[in-house]
Amino acid sequence: MIDFRSDTVTKPSEQMLNAMMRAEVGDDVYGDDVTVNQLEQSAAKNHGFEAALFVTSGTQANLLAILSHCERGDEYLCGQSAHNYRYEAGGAAVLGSVQPQPIENEPNGTLCFNKLANAIKPDDFHFARTKLLSLENTIGGKVLPLAYLEQARQFCDTHNLLLHLDGARVYNAAVALNVNIVEIAQHFDSMTICLSKGLGAPIGSLLLGKRDFIERARRLRKMLGGGMRQAGIIAAAGMYALEYNVERLADDHRNAAYLAEQLNTVSGFDTRSYQVETNIVYVDVDSAIDIDDIAKSLKEMGINMTPGYQGMRLVTHLGISHADIDTLITALKQQTQGGL
Ligand SMILES: *Cc1c(COP(=O)(O)O)cnc(C)c1O
Repeated sequence: MIDFRSDTVTKPSEQMLNAMMRAEVGDDVYGDDVTVNQLEQSAAKNHGFEAALFVTSGTQANLLAILSHCERGDEYLCGQSAHNYRYEAGGAAVLGSVQPQPIENEPNGTLCFNKLANAIKPDDFHFARTKLLSLENTIGGKVLPLAYLEQARQFCDTHNLLLHLDGARVYNAAVALNVNIVEIAQHFDSMTICLSKGLGAPIGSLLLGKRDFIERARRLRKMLGGGMRQAGIIAAAGMYALEYNVERLADDHRNAAYLAEQLNTVSGFDTRSYQVETNIVYVDVDSAIDIDDIAKSLKEMGINMTPGYQGMRLVTHLGISHADIDTLITALKQQTQGGL
């Protein structure tokens, strides 16, 4: 199956599976899993944070971050299209009584500081206490500029806010900018990383921050049922991913650019309203095309994609080669022939 739905569909390579098989394990709830400890210590060091926590998913990492930074009756500022606002079942509000205050994202994915400043609540018992700003990088495949991150840090310092990064795809941002990950991470009080997306591990995310913050998150992780036992098996995959699957993200970005370029040669497909900055390609599909029907036919041919008209999303990852893109384009041309 050639799967363009998401970079979450990546499967562990032979070498990654070998690393998992050889992993030294123990009961991580007792702190005994050598491999988990090694991953957490090296991740903290390599990203410039005091401590790290290995967690089940990006959703859990974001939830733990918000709950560890905020208390009941606090609020966090975030983008209207932020994953931790839209796609995480309202966890911070449901489980933490932390109110989100979403702000419309600008076209480049950033949040306008004037709009953010206007959303900060006065220190008055009528209002929730504004505690945290949460950014996302990459967001919709777009990379937040380094200068913007620096301004966000200054903004938070000025307004006495904490600053969190949902960095599910932060390595895509670092590779696209060709900078060390620390250039991005340094501005944040906390950051998440998904090991299970483009980095290719089967399970797991990291939460990074100060030591006392991570200790609060560790308690909450247990409360949420996220205390894992011989988790070294999956931590080993995460360590392998961070060592061997970062630089190759550049291939995914090149493939995404090629995919966008090729989609424009298929009549009824147009990517020109969207810029490809990393591994995500958006495409407008002419409404005269029955895209659901095409998606069904392609699936029978072994090509998987999520159909849609405006901004249909295709994602490149380590399971997608240059030749796979040619296969998709040929299939799309066959399917749309005579359609328009
Ligand atoms: C995928 C994703 C998450 C959640 O990660 P899961 O491991 O799927 O829970 C969080 N934030 C962003 C930006 C994501 O893309």
